[in-house]
Amino acid sequence: YTAKNGKLTYANYDPKLDKNALSQLVMKEELREAIASGKLDIHYQPKYSLIDGKMTGLEALARWTSPSAGFVPPDVFIPLAERVGLIDELTALVLKGATQQCQSWRKMGYELSISVNLSAINLHDGTLVQLIQHTLADTGLPPSALILEVTEGAVMENASQACEVLSEVRALGVRFSVDDYGAGYSSLSYLNRLPISELKLDRAFIKDVCTSKKDAVIVAATLELARNLGLVMVAEGVEDAASLDFLTSIRCDQVQGYFLCRPLPALELERRLPFIFRFNPVPTGSAANDS
Ligand code: C2E
Ligand code: MG
Ligand code: MG
Ligand code: MG
Repeated sequence: YTAKNGKLTYANYDPKLDKNALSQLVMKEELREAIASGKLDIHYQPKYSLIDGKMTGLEALARWTSPSAGFVPPDVFIPLAERVGLIDELTALVLKGATQQCQSWRKMGYELSISVNLSAINLHDGTLVQLIQHTLADTGLPPSALILEVTEGAVMENASQACEVLSEVRALGVRFSVDDYGAGYSSLSYLNRLPISELKLDRAFIKDVCTSKKDAVIVAATLELARNLGLVMVAEGVEDAASLDFLTSIRCDQVQGYFLCRPLPALELERRLPFIFRFNPVPTGSAANDS
C-alpha cells in the first residue's frame, strides 16, 4: 500500500496483471497434474514423400485441455512447461506415447517414422541421451524410426554442448531435423558441424510461395543447399494445391501441411491410415506457371 492524498491505494496495482499471475499459477498446477497423470494428448500429422507419394512418418504434436481454461495451444503451454521446470517430464511423456504408437503402427505393416519436438532445455540439461536410450529400449522402436526436431535457437543457445549431445544421440541411430528452418537466427556453420539429417523449412516461406517470387527463390535455394549437404528437405505448412505443385516441380523431398492432412488424434489417424498412407499427387498444372 501507499498513502496517497490520504487514501490507501495499491502501488502500481494492475488488476489485469494480477489476474494473469493467478491464472498462470492455476495453469501451472493444472499442467503439472496433467503431466503427472499422463493426461496430455498427442496428435499426429503425416509427412509425405513427393517421390512416391507415400507417408514417410508422422510428427507428434502435444495437445492439452486445461480444466479451467479449456484448450491451450502448445505455443502457450510448452513455454509454460519450460518456465516452471516441467519440460523434461513433458518431453518424456510425449516421447514415450509417440514411440509406442509408432511402433504399434509399424507392427500393423506401415513403415513409418515418428518425429518428436525437443525444447532447448532438453538439449542442455544433460538428460537427453539416457531418456532416448530408455525410451527406445522400452518401446522396441528401431532408432532409425525416430526423428528428433530441434530449432536453430535451441542449438545456438550453446552450440558446442548441443553438438556433443546430438552426436551422442545420433550414434544410437536416431536422426535429427532442424525445425522452423530459416525462421530463427540462422548460422550456416552449424549445418556442417551438427549431425543432422533433415531441414524442415519454416512455413513462413511456403505460405506465399506461389505468389512471391522471392519466397520461391528462397525455397528453391534452400532445397539446393539441403541436397548438396546430403540433407532431406521437408516443406511444412503446405496449405493448398498450388504450393504442392510448386514443391513437386522443384523436386522438394517431403511435404507436411493441412492440404495433405491435419494433425489427428491417434484413433482417428489409425482409422484413416489405409486410405491416407498413400497420397496421390494430382497436379493442377497451374502452380509452376503462376510463380
Ligand atoms: P512445429 O513443431 O513447427 O509444428 C508444426 C505446427 O504447424 C503445428 O502446430 C501444426 O499443427 C501446424 N501446422 C501443420 N500444418 C500446417 C499448415 O498447413 N498450416 C499452418 N498454418 N499450420 C500447420 P501446433 O500443433 O500448434 O504446435 C505448435 C508448436 O508447438 C510446434 O511447432 C512445436 O514447436 C511446439 N510443440 C508441439 N508439440 C510439442 C512437444 O511435444 N514438445 C515440444 N517441445 N514442442 C512442441
Ligand atoms: Mg516440429
Ligand atoms: Mg515447424
Ligand atoms: Mg514451431
